[in-house]
Amino acid sequence: MSVSAPSSRLTRWLDRAAGPGVHAAWLAGCGFAVWTLIPLSPAGWAFALAALWPGLAGLLLAGRETRDWARVALALSWCLPGLSASVLFASALSPAALVFLAGPAALAAAAGGRAARLCAVLAACAFLLAAGFSLLGPPAGPVLPSGALTGFAALAAFFALTGLTARARTYARLNAARRELEALRPAAEGFAHAPAPLLALNPDGMITAASRAVRRAAPGAPRDLTGLPAGGLGFDQTQADALGAALTEARGGGGAEGGRFSFTVRGPRGRESVLAARAVATPAGFVVSLQEPAGTDAQTAARLAAERDAAVAASRAKSEFLAAVSHELRTPLNAIIGFSDVMKQRLFGPLPARYAEYGDLIHESGRHLLELIGDVLDMSKIEADRYELSTEVFDVRDVADICAKMMRLRATEQGVTLHLDAGDAPIHVCADRKALRQILLNLLSNAVKFTPDGGAVALLVRRENGALLLAVGDSGVGISADEISRLGQPYAQSQSGRESNERSSGLGLVLVRQLAALHGGTMQIDSEPGEGTTVSVRLPVLTNAAGEPADVEPLEVHQRIRAAQAAGEQIVRTSEGVA
Ligand code: ADP
Repeated sequence: MSVSAPSSRLTRWLDRAAGPGVHAAWLAGCGFAVWTLIPLSPAGWAFALAALWPGLAGLLLAGRETRDWARVALALSWCLPGLSASVLFASALSPAALVFLAGPAALAAAAGGRAARLCAVLAACAFLLAAGFSLLGPPAGPVLPSGALTGFAALAAFFALTGLTARARTYARLNAARRELEALRPAAEGFAHAPAPLLALNPDGMITAASRAVRRAAPGAPRDLTGLPAGGLGFDQTQADALGAALTEARGGGGAEGGRFSFTVRGPRGRESVLAARAVATPAGFVVSLQEPAGTDAQTAARLAAERDAAVAASRAKSEFLAAVSHELRTPLNAIIGFSDVMKQRLFGPLPARYAEYGDLIHESGRHLLELIGDVLDMSKIEADRYELSTEVFDVRDVADICAKMMRLRATEQGVTLHLDAGDAPIHVCADRKALRQILLNLLSNAVKFTPDGGAVALLVRRENGALLLAVGDSGVGISADEISRLGQPYAQSQSGRESNERSSGLGLVLVRQLAALHGGTMQIDSEPGEGTTVSVRLPVLTNAAGEPADVEPLEVHQRIRAAQAAGEQIVRTSEGVA
């Protein structure tokens, strides 16, 4: 921000030269007039002296116009020409009385408003006095030619004009200064409200302005800092010395790291608080920026950590509560399912038709509820870090086969075909069999649930890049991209999920993701609305039959084999074509 100087060099010189200049001009003008009028009568000499005197007094008092006694002396001196002109030569009511105006005008130009106002009051009194004298008797008679008096009057009028011009110039300067102050106001307010603690210092290191944030950084400092030495903000004299050294460094240019220093101030409860400070030289002095104590960051971090711990503890308590409740619910539910199963199977004889139907419904609903509670229980166990994997070595194709069989009936009922592609070679894994079964069942049941009549679902089990790949694809309704991003949250469901009548808790995919994570694996959803969905789970659980980690064939080898196969097939096809 650059600020133009309030007045130019010429204006300042004119201001300084105005006082002596005006008085010298008056002296010269009057001296010339008197010289042309010589020889003079005694009364004429008396007037000449009275006329010359204020010019002489102005020159003698030059530079002291602002002192009260000098102002009074000048004002009185400037009343003399008017008074003597009207008393000695003419009536106060003649044109010569204009000389009275010369005083206030000259002083307005030379010594400022206060002197001019004082002189105007005295001149008005002198004029009234002279007017009173002229009423008492006829004037003493024209001692000087009337032309000379008119000349003095013209000189006085010139001075009046000069004085008024000077006043106008002063007002113009004042207005310009006011406008500049207004223009500076936003910058000043911006400085005061800056979020960082900032101090503006004059070249002597006195504070000229301070941003409000300084109070926060140095609460022990006085409320109004303006005019105080900046070093006084420090905790002791060494701080003032450090600041002085930094200011000197900043004045010398400082460089990129120059002007930096550590400033200890009175912090909260008068305790020492160390601030990182930096001084930068400006045309008006210096700006010192203070950085709030690192302790503030540490306190914030500690508070955030405490809040996070409390949130984690609350979440864990919720999960533990859910786990306990789910567990308690399972016991009576098992009784409901067991007894309704007995009724369903008519173990104790036939039931009336209506009761038989109700028994079947109780059994069906009980099973749904049990599945839901199972999901909630598993989820809460995982969230409470209480889910333990019991790993064993097995052929994952067996699990895939069982799951496909379990889902096939439901798929067929819905008019959906279910394919299983697990290859011919065994795929040994070291994993939690129950968890893998749950992963597959969750994915398959979602695929069947969201695939309309006539669609297809495929389960693919493969080795891929040294990991087990379980992928369930369907030709169903699909999921939009933004819904996919929300599906990571427990209990989140997409639009189609909310509209579906089937059992749904919004936990199925989250459980799959979490169970995969427990095995060190990942889950990925690829879907297009209306095109279908493929959920792939990759688990690093491959082993050989002995349970040792499987030798991972480098991808390169795979690619080479595939390339060789493709080349072989190409040759066979070509030779068949030729034959
Ligand atoms: P839910 O128990 O509600 O099925 P999930 O976590 O298994 O919970 O699934 C969450 C939501 O993801 C479902 O409500 C459904 O909207 C969507 N979704 C999951 N799998 C599929 C799929 N194969 N096809 C379409 N939408 C799916």
